[in-house]
Parts: sequence; C-alpha cells; structure tokens
Amino acid sequence: MTTVIAQNFRDNPVQTTCPHCQAQILTSTRYEVGGFAWLICAILCIVGCDLGCCFIPFCVPGCQDVIHSCPNCRQMISRWSRL
Ligand SMILES: [Zn+2]
Repeated sequence: MTTVIAQNFRDNPVQTTCPHCQAQILTSTRYEVGGFAWLICAILCIVGCDLGCCFIPFCVPGCQDVIHSCPNCRQMISRWSRL
C-alpha cells in the first residue's frame, strides 16, 4: 500500500520525510505511463491521427504520471496522476 502524505506531490521533487525510513529526503521522480496518457492516446485515435501519433503520449513526460520515491531506501512514496 502507498502511504499518502498531505503534501503537494506533482512533477517536481519534494522535500519530505520518508514514511518508510524516516529520513529527510528530496524525492526522486520518474515518469510512468498512466491513465492520462491512455486518455490522450484514445483521443488522438478518435480524431484520426495515424502513423503512430497515438503513441506520442507514451513518449512525452508531460502526459505521464509522476512517481515519487525515496533515494535512500528506494521505496515509492507517492504517485501523482494528471487525471
Ligand atoms: Zn526512505
């Protein structure tokens, strides 16, 4: 289970206390394809983009979810979805 912290996790690293190892850390972020990318993909398909255009969301970080993890213990802290 993911511990949800009342803090503004978006697409930038956040200074926080890791709930797993209790260390003061700056979260490390990485991008992962989530619901928003699939939504954009579906929209691009519907409006008739072909030649693989509908796969663009999977290559653009701005369309993907952001995973915040602890650089100390490597545990996931939060996931920010754009939906
Ligand atoms: Zn940690």
